[in-house]
Amino acid sequence: MSDAGVPHLAPEAFPDRARDVADLLTRYWKSLESRPVTPDMKPGDLLRGLPESPPETPSTDDDSWSGLLGDVERLILPALTHWQSPNFFAYFPANASAPAMFAELLSAGLGVQGMLWATSPACTELEIRMMDWLAEAIGLPDRFRFDRPGSVGGGVIQGTASESTLTALVAARARIIRTLAEHSTSVPDDLESRLTVYTSTQAHSSVIKAAIVAGFARHADDRRRIRLIETDEHCRLRTDRLREAMLADIQAGLIPAFVSATMGTTATTAIDPIAEIADAIKTVTEITSTGAASIANPWLHVDAAFAGAACVCPEFRHLLHGIDRVDSLCFNPHKWLLTNFDYDAFWVADRRALTDALSISPEYLRNAASDAGTIEFRDWHVPLGRRFRSLKLWFVMRHYGLEGLRQHIREHIRLANLFESLLRADNRFEIVQERTLNLVCFRLRGEGAESDAANKRLLDAINATRRIFLTHAVLPKEARPAGGRLFLRMCIASPTTRESHVNDAWNLIQSLA
Ligand code: PLP
Repeated sequence: MSDAGVPHLAPEAFPDRARDVADLLTRYWKSLESRPVTPDMKPGDLLRGLPESPPETPSTDDDSWSGLLGDVERLILPALTHWQSPNFFAYFPANASAPAMFAELLSAGLGVQGMLWATSPACTELEIRMMDWLAEAIGLPDRFRFDRPGSVGGGVIQGTASESTLTALVAARARIIRTLAEHSTSVPDDLESRLTVYTSTQAHSSVIKAAIVAGFARHADDRRRIRLIETDEHCRLRTDRLREAMLADIQAGLIPAFVSATMGTTATTAIDPIAEIADAIKTVTEITSTGAASIANPWLHVDAAFAGAACVCPEFRHLLHGIDRVDSLCFNPHKWLLTNFDYDAFWVADRRALTDALSISPEYLRNAASDAGTIEFRDWHVPLGRRFRSLKLWFVMRHYGLEGLRQHIREHIRLANLFESLLRADNRFEIVQERTLNLVCFRLRGEGAESDAANKRLLDAINATRRIFLTHAVLPKEARPAGGRLFLRMCIASPTTRESHVNDAWNLIQSLA
């Protein structure tokens, strides 16, 4: 008990309690393989096991502490989906690792709030260096780095890819308004309501959500200023359709403001042709040689939330072809690069475009360093307060080294290749999209709605065993083969998955098919 009577835990007690948590995590990680991947629960089951009101009196002794950890094991662990399980093949992953886990503990324990450079210089400066390390790790051009001569770009950690897309959209809007104001004597009052957003039908829903939050749409189905561009047979954005849509909008008096390309779509990991998209934007702005749209180029953002991690391996960097022509990009080390959630890396080619859009300096936040132009990340995203998240990547990079990270990615690609070859040998199944990385998209052969129902029954039967966990998606109509049909997704990306788990998963799928 502290002098003031407040029941703080004394620092001397930290080691024992930290060891207890570490022991719990050790037991948890060792048990992952034998646990059903998903919980056997109905909504409200856990709620019923939790007291309705908080405790009135402190519980600081060792018995209470053991009771609390006991409740974690008794109540919480059975109510989890085990994302780190070797048998988790659903969605995209949320990789954890011991170095990131310990860095997270350190970040919490240091208790730093890095909203300004001055409120903890280490928080800002380690982040600057980590963004440059990560840029180098995935082969980004110099223009996205802080430390390259002549570069005005740089990167910042955001919580999620959704936040990066929103931030990019807000910066795009500010840039277009500023550019138009600089080039014309009068900016129309309704300018903002004429700005339009473009992405593919296969883009993540976060692009639409960003448009809603930024005021480009009133709700998810409001398409007045969002164009969802058709994809080709490989689920990639069609640049001819993009060009047509932008030209039609310009003719109708609208102003293309923001294009979001996806490197690794959520359903199938399709890779939009970034260079061709940049060409389409260029052609459109050249054709329309007069008017607002010609003066202000739309902003090109790349959402590489999941697949960006693969670019730590040089053999996958071609997937980012054209990245030297984009305004911003993001990817999530918290998905496939062993850096516990949350950690999205977001880069811009011109950091002034971001800070011009988001910088606000109330007097209480001003100090000598910020007045002198020091990087202040609060101007790079929505929140003011900032956790010390860069510690996680620092620990991960130093533990694994780039070589270790490449091994992690390549092992999953190898296992996906193996799973694909098992599928190919069973002609009841078809592979519905050429595999880009570690996601295998497959289905039971068949035509029409009945085959969708059969595939859904298979998925439900697989997941009902709780031995493995897979998810599904539906192909766009234009996809070949199986356009418009439901399929199963097997994403092999858990840090604990080994070849035996992939073989076991295949045996289970085959037996239920
Ligand atoms: N973009 C893509 C391509 C995704 O697949 C996802 C999620 O899986 C997201 C964005 C959203 O990511 P976040 O949860 O980081 O916002």
